[in-house]
Amino acid sequence: MDNKFQGKQNIVQSVFNHQAIGFDVDHCLIRYKVKALTKLCYKVICQAVIEKYNYPSSILDLTEGEYGFALNYLVIHIDKGIVLRIAENKEIIKCYRGFTEQDVETEYGPTRMLPDFDPISSIKQNPQYIVCATYFENVIPLIFAKMTQFKCEQLNSNQLESSEYHTIFVQIIEGLKMNYQHFDQHKVFPINQYGRFFRQISENPGLYMFKQNQFRTTLENLKSQGKVLFIVTNSHYEFMNLTMTYSYGEDWMNIFDFIFVKGGKPEFFNNPYKQTFLLDMNQPLLKGQVVNQIVANQKIYVEGNYTLVEQYLQQKFSSLGQILYIGDHIMNDCYFTQKYTNWDGIAIVEELFEQLKPDSQYRVEAEQNIISYRSYWGNYLESTVNNQVLKNYWYSIACKELKGVVRTLDCLQNQSLWS
Ligand SMILES: [Mg+2]
Repeated sequence: MDNKFQGKQNIVQSVFNHQAIGFDVDHCLIRYKVKALTKLCYKVICQAVIEKYNYPSSILDLTEGEYGFALNYLVIHIDKGIVLRIAENKEIIKCYRGFTEQDVETEYGPTRMLPDFDPISSIKQNPQYIVCATYFENVIPLIFAKMTQFKCEQLNSNQLESSEYHTIFVQIIEGLKMNYQHFDQHKVFPINQYGRFFRQISENPGLYMFKQNQFRTTLENLKSQGKVLFIVTNSHYEFMNLTMTYSYGEDWMNIFDFIFVKGGKPEFFNNPYKQTFLLDMNQPLLKGQVVNQIVANQKIYVEGNYTLVEQYLQQKFSSLGQILYIGDHIMNDCYFTQKYTNWDGIAIVEELFEQLKPDSQYRVEAEQNIISYRSYWGNYLESTVNNQVLKNYWYSIACKELKGVVRTLDCLQNQSLWS
């Protein structure tokens, strides 16, 4: 394995004996060029918000440094219009209103804590605190800060009414849906006819994602060892096919035994009654026949739940062995998966490059790919709060609870891990 990786070492013992390995697609099988992707997401969501709600186009103007506000796993405290980060003991590390840093104790008192914040107790988020995980959602706090700053400047005030922050948040979510959610209750829309995000990616995939030729070889090796390989993605079929074709080649589907699209994680791992449909491109929702098991010669399923995977393995191997699922969402791909099933979870945390020596080639590459977040937020992995060095809250969950944490899938390329 990558000998510069100093994270959780039990990955080495835990990976090779799995009967099946499941993968998330975005930011897992697909490695994005995060800096370019963040700029794209910012632009397309803002454009939608500007057009729909009549904001000036100056909302689009950001300095290179301001993009560094868009870190993974920030929390928006909507009522107060604040964006913040928390440490492993739930203490607030830093908080901002707009792009202006606020004093944590003035805002939250000497405990520096959010009341009632317990993201691991349930898959449902507390609507008061929005956790923006993953490098699609990282732009939400950034846009929230920009719009808050804009409105404050307009009113010549340091803060807004609570209801104003809620309005801003709702407008951002609408702008997000107008780009990412290319389906409604009645129809799945072709991605090149929906919003700006998918069109930009499909016109220039090389600007936004890496080819994955090396990891393809790893997947083929795993397959030749008899591992069952599968995908559970929350994306719908067309976008998954676009990104996977670019990164793994036209015949990428041959590598996998079965695929769940629009998987609705984390509910996929938690609700055994969630329906499963065969993919049918002739239906408006692409949902064909309802099935309750993996069907021979049918590779792609819409929605679904974890029991189909377990049943399939039980039948194929006569007994159910261990299943591993790898994804970048520490909670929805990994933590809840381990909590609600007997599966193991490995999280991809790209910011682990911070553990590498500054001159390491991997670190230099990673820093080029990722947005420079330190001037707003400090280090990702740990922070000093009141002279105590504390891990970031989500990274600490990953280290304590999961089977493993790796920087990118490439860290799992070493064959000795798997055989
Ligand atoms: Mg993902």
